Amino acid sequence: MTKTIQAIRGMNDVLPGDISLYQYVEKVLKKVLLNYGFSEIRTPIIEYTPLFKRAIGEDTDIINKEMYNFNDRHSNSITLRPEGTAGCVRAGIEHGLLHNQEQRLWYMGPMFRYERPQKGRYRQFYQIGSEVFGLKGPNIDAELILMTARCWRLLGIANHVHLELNSIGSIEARKKYHHALVNILEKHISILDHDSKRRMHSNPMRLLDSKNPSIKALFDNAPPLGDYLDNKSREHFTELCRLLDLSGVSYRINQRLVRGLDYYNNTVFEWITNSLGAQGAVCSGGRYDHLVKLLGGGDIPAVGCAIGLERLVLLVRLVSPLLEHQQNVDIYLIYLGQGTENAMLLFSEYLRNKLPEFKIMTNFGGGSFSTQFTRANKLGARIALALGEDEIKHHQCIIKDLYNGIQKTVSQCHAADTLRVILTDTSKQQNSL
Ligand code: ATP
Ligand code: MG
Repeated sequence: MTKTIQAIRGMNDVLPGDISLYQYVEKVLKKVLLNYGFSEIRTPIIEYTPLFKRAIGEDTDIINKEMYNFNDRHSNSITLRPEGTAGCVRAGIEHGLLHNQEQRLWYMGPMFRYERPQKGRYRQFYQIGSEVFGLKGPNIDAELILMTARCWRLLGIANHVHLELNSIGSIEARKKYHHALVNILEKHISILDHDSKRRMHSNPMRLLDSKNPSIKALFDNAPPLGDYLDNKSREHFTELCRLLDLSGVSYRINQRLVRGLDYYNNTVFEWITNSLGAQGAVCSGGRYDHLVKLLGGGDIPAVGCAIGLERLVLLVRLVSPLLEHQQNVDIYLIYLGQGTENAMLLFSEYLRNKLPEFKIMTNFGGGSFSTQFTRANKLGARIALALGEDEIKHHQCIIKDLYNGIQKTVSQCHAADTLRVILTDTSKQQNSL
């Protein structure tokens, strides 16, 4: 027997039964992005490897362990993008989108990280990201957070996520903190595992969110990064907190939130849920004022965030399971008798002209009326529309509302209006979910 080939571990097919929820979530997010003046940008899913190494930082988990790399036919090192910001900045510089102007960009697409697959953590996953260039004040950080908060409200999950916030200060402040951490770690080198010893000098801040209990305990008495912040960073953070208070967004300051990518400075934040187990972050972001310059562009401040679509969909499904049962088919056409098949084909085309917003399908499998009604029910159709020989003779059709069983015969020229009235009622109910 031929062995079947399966999908690559950690890479998922989104099947037709799940897609409506993805589309719904994407639609809500895109609407909000438009509402805040963001424009879409689409960049390739592969880039030259040095782009990510330079942007994300050599001694990060993503670069050390999680990248999908390969050489192309000319031995150029290529990487499947692990995140969207680096490509977005590269494209912005390359096409002159960032120079001397404000820019608000969003993107959506698959990202790739070689991680251990589990619920909410995959090797291919989707992000919807937003990036703002050319603005350095805390007001835009606040607006970005307000935008994400709006997304959660519209998706009905606002009570299931909370905001964690921190400032990691300027590069200079972090250098000082880096030295303080190295001092602490050197004193306790015997309790460090191999990986921590390796990173202790190059990236000690990453050890702050270590899962290792003895390393965790070590930092319990360490001075927080907040003590090392320069005045400018402190003012930026205080103002951001004030603006969030003013807007009624609650948050928790988490001094250990440092984020896994090196390009951040000042503001960092994560929206966390407790409902998905260990994979709690549904959206992460922060300010990255030095990245554009680091990648060869001008001195352009920036702030952005990325939402993990799969985690968001998992959460929306958990909170609103009813959304899953969205109507599949709006109108299912069935027919029986001499000449009815051709008439049905033409009538279905006529209805699609009149009702382009609805899903209209025709039964092509034949069978008695009762078999065909059963098929309509199985598809979850809202309406079955039947044509028999009598109906054709009198230019009529039978419309049966499969929700309440009410059936009526109407003239074909009034069919579209009657159908719209029934279906509009249904979509109103769905939108209110
Ligand atoms: P985590 O701490 O869960 O590993 P991260 O800090 O690596 O997340 P980011 O690089 O900031 O995540 O990516 C932004 C968002 O993308 C995350 O908040 C999360 O929702 C999502 N995400 C990150 N990695 C994965 C993954 N492997 N599978 C699914 N979603 C992911
Ligand atoms: Mg990660």
